[in-house]
Amino acid sequence: MNDNQKIPGEKIAQVEEYLPGNNTFEDDYAIRATTIGDINLDSKERLASINSKTQITVPKVGDVIIGVVEANLPSMIAIMIKYVNGKKVVADLECVCVTRHIRKKNIALAKDVVKAKIISHINGTIHASVDSQELGVLFTKCRKCFGTVVKMRDAVKCKDCTWIDDRKLSSDFGKSEFLEQN
Ligand SMILES: [Zn+2]
Repeated sequence: MNDNQKIPGEKIAQVEEYLPGNNTFEDDYAIRATTIGDINLDSKERLASINSKTQITVPKVGDVIIGVVEANLPSMIAIMIKYVNGKKVVADLECVCVTRHIRKKNIALAKDVVKAKIISHINGTIHASVDSQELGVLFTKCRKCFGTVVKMRDAVKCKDCTWIDDRKLSSDFGKSEFLEQN
């Protein structure tokens, strides 16, 4: 990869100097790449763009994503994005979701499938939220025995060992249409 090649999320210019062009997005002070490609700084038009043949796009604020939980930390979860607005994505893009305000012990476990909404881009990090009824866990397993769970009000119960556990469940929990969209 040469110096002109940029990867998604990478800073390509300052907003005071350039306007965001093709395959870029603006976050606070920087213009960043949304795809892998060569940087193109047009000083006449003051336009910073990325020339790319690939179709990798970073989800925009307001987009709904479905992904797999990569890490479950005390105050946030990290999600590997698999679908954006129902469309399967090929790029490995991660977003983080702050969960410290949600009064549940287990918001989501690693490997759970969750639905989240993109709320911001800060310093190249994509931030998402699960703070609404349709957002949250779509698929999970028992924390004790990895058995199949069923929904019980706002918790889940294991069919095998009867362990009851909490999650931030999506109102779409148990529906599996999203798996057929690929
Ligand atoms: Zn179990």
